[in-house]
Amino acid sequence: MTAKIISGTEMAATIRAEIKAEVEILKANTGRMPGLATVLVGGRKDSQSYVRMKKKACAEVGMASFGHDLPENISQEELLRIIQDLNENPEVHGILVQLPIPAHLNEEEILAAVGLEKDIDGFHPINIGRLSMKRREPLFVPCTPKGCIEMLDRTGVQIEGKRAVVLGRSNIVGLPVAMLLLHRNATLTICHSRTQNLPQVVREADILIVAVGRAEMVRGDWVKPGAVVIDVGTNAVDDPTTEKGYRWVGDVAFNEVKEIASAITPVPGGVGPMTIAMLLRNTLDGAKRSS
Ligand code: NDP
Repeated sequence: MTAKIISGTEMAATIRAEIKAEVEILKANTGRMPGLATVLVGGRKDSQSYVRMKKKACAEVGMASFGHDLPENISQEELLRIIQDLNENPEVHGILVQLPIPAHLNEEEILAAVGLEKDIDGFHPINIGRLSMKRREPLFVPCTPKGCIEMLDRTGVQIEGKRAVVLGRSNIVGLPVAMLLLHRNATLTICHSRTQNLPQVVREADILIVAVGRAEMVRGDWVKPGAVVIDVGTNAVDDPTTEKGYRWVGDVAFNEVKEIASAITPVPGGVGPMTIAMLLRNTLDGAKRSS
């Protein structure tokens, strides 16, 4: 069997076009332009590039973006004050604090300071709490997990009643994606670095979501024939044959697993573009809810 390749690039382009049309309607009906504020602390090159991509994506769908590029040594109080200003700014409908932030800052307090109705990353403890409880609806769901579920839905994969395995339990990806699968009535197993007999547990999955950060860890013989595999991992591996000297691979050995799975996401071009599309979706939802 050769798996269907689920193209996040194509799916995200469709979603961005849908969002662009909705932004135009919102502007025409209310005069409101959705606005995203990005908060970047320090000079990490990868974070700078993520923020640049997010601002560019906003412009492409007709949204405003407000960039706050702050020095590495900013104090907790100063950062909290900037977030408070953004909470009060009616032109801002979503606030994104690019993680990770420098170690001297208290991340938990910063994320909790983002107004609930502008928490487009879905990391506010109340949004995460609601996501984890039965019959509670968070205002926003974290973008990468939301993108994973959207990929399953748009591929026509049934989630209810299926055996789902999530490999990874981070606050950003593993845990929230697991909660989303549970909300959708999957039978869920969460694996992590202390899981025993990992390949055997992974082999039980009808739906496998992998967010570990280890290049090509999941091999072909870990996967149940016909499973659907969503690979969140993005790992740079040395490759002297490329111009840059490296290439991106996922947490899944793509060439092996594509012969076993029924559908699989590639890296790059899989979950990554969907994450940005979901950020735009959340910002638009925030703007629609504001008055
Ligand atoms: P974290 O490092 O925060 O979490 C990794 C998880 O994997 C932890 O739960 C850890 O277990 C588990 N783990 C690590 N090693 C093993 C192992 N050998 N066996 C089993 N489990 C293991 O990573 P993130 O969740 O933030 O990111 C995961 C990957 O996803 C990264 O490659 C990251 O770059 C990528 N990513 C991609 C995004 C996108 O938009 N495409 C967005 C966000 C992340 P334990 O909890 O026990 O330590």
